[in-house]
Amino acid sequence: MLDPILIDTATFTREQQQLSGQLQLQALDRRVWSHELLAQRDGVIQYKVSGGIDRWQRPFIDISIEGELKLVCQRCLQAVSWTLNDQSRVVIFASEQLLDEAMAADETLEGMVWSAEYNLTALLEDQILMAIPVAPRHEDCDHTLATKTNQDAGNPFVKLAGLKSGH
Ligand SMILES: [Zn+2]
Repeated sequence: MLDPILIDTATFTREQQQLSGQLQLQALDRRVWSHELLAQRDGVIQYKVSGGIDRWQRPFIDISIEGELKLVCQRCLQAVSWTLNDQSRVVIFASEQLLDEAMAADETLEGMVWSAEYNLTALLEDQILMAIPVAPRHEDCDHTLATKTNQDAGNPFVKLAGLKSGH
């Protein structure tokens, strides 16, 4: 486990502070690296986080994450490269009720309830999990299958895919 990097919410948003760096995927919480769609645990996430106050006087945290990850193709079950590149603004509300009202009025809004401190790593983990696509796929599974070795010959999905394309 990583030592938590704590953000002091009031100072971070009022003074428009920024934090950036990189994290090993494996150092994150289990719910990230054990995700069923991840084909590999190694990978590095670059992040940039900045605070501010929007024109409605709501504090927010902008979270930008980037990285190259390997996911499991949902068609052929082989690894497929995926570029994580996600920018989100998370607006902070004083109470659960205010958050609910704001989210009901704006479906695209991302929000959370005020806390004096946030754990940066947990915020990043949430964003990574939300960014992972539901059904990652190769653009062309046949091409991928044709160029790899036959070590997966025992995999029925691979055989099926091979049959379909006439190999
Ligand atoms: Zn595929």
